[in-house]
Amino acid sequence: MLVVHNPDHALHAGRQEMFRGRLVPCHEVPARLDHVLAELRRRGVGPLHTPVELQPGADAAFDEVLQRIHAPRYLRFLEQAWEEWVALDPANAELDALPSVWPVRGFRADVEPSNFAARMGLYSFDAGTPLTAGSWRAARTGAHAAVLAARAVGRGQARCAFALSRPPGHHAGADFFGGYCFLNHSALAAQALRNLGADRVAVLDVDYHHGNGTQSIFYERADVLTVSIHGDPRTEYPFYLGHADERGAGAGEGFNLNLPLPRGSGFAEWRAVLQQAIAAVRAFGAQALVVPLGVDTFEGDPISGFRLKSDDYLRIGEDLAALQLPTVFAFEGGYAVAEVGVNVANVLEGFGG
Ligand SMILES: [Zn+2]
Repeated sequence: MLVVHNPDHALHAGRQEMFRGRLVPCHEVPARLDHVLAELRRRGVGPLHTPVELQPGADAAFDEVLQRIHAPRYLRFLEQAWEEWVALDPANAELDALPSVWPVRGFRADVEPSNFAARMGLYSFDAGTPLTAGSWRAARTGAHAAVLAARAVGRGQARCAFALSRPPGHHAGADFFGGYCFLNHSALAAQALRNLGADRVAVLDVDYHHGNGTQSIFYERADVLTVSIHGDPRTEYPFYLGHADERGAGAGEGFNLNLPLPRGSGFAEWRAVLQQAIAAVRAFGAQALVVPLGVDTFEGDPISGFRLKSDDYLRIGEDLAALQLPTVFAFEGGYAVAEVGVNVANVLEGFGG
């Protein structure tokens, strides 16, 4: 198991997010990753690899993957957003940037406004994802970590790799952030694997929340199967996507599978659905697998509603290993901060890492 760790992750440290009508301390904090890293080191999982400092253009293949998955105008916005935010008022340097206006149905999304707040809303879908001074750097290095992990697997240098990065990725779409995510690591990893010659790549998302960003990125593609097991969007974030009848469109029809479960589900129900997901990956004939690895399915998670226990994560790793595919894991959710490390390490250990 190769672990590619994002050394810049702590540069993204939001102060507050909008949650149930109030600004509350962020759930998505640097300590989450630190706990995972400490637990992996304790168990001797590795080797650990750290991406070198990345200048734009220094890794042309990475930039190519980034621009294939994310819209150029969105990448430009993210890169410049903090400077623009502070230029509005120097006092903003002490605050996080949060969106407050969005173009819903009937509004124009094709015309990019010049107003900063309007662009912030154009490129986001919630007010829970603060943009900070270091967000772009952290997200970009994290995306690079995901591509390096995929590259090692795609070139056969590692059978399995774990991109240990935050902010997370699976809610980020081609041109929007939200759900604490800016750049979609799993989509980038899947594309990198495609570029290295895997004809069919499957993404099997086990985070508590639907991987709406990944689904939307690949919705009209037949070369990447997207599967997600998650809390029913009728009651659970991200609410507006993740229903069972979303099966893909155009060339991608039949290549998206959503497996929503009711809030309160335990491991027996969850594992039965995992078998369906695994069967779909097999039937697709995937040559490589990407797993957005969220452990907010844990019973103690403060913002989620499944009831998995720490030992269950060993079983998840074992079940995924049975696919016998070159595999990239990407760190996603999990907010019971102290237990996140054990639960993530259990999946990797169960997998055989
Ligand atoms: Zn989640």
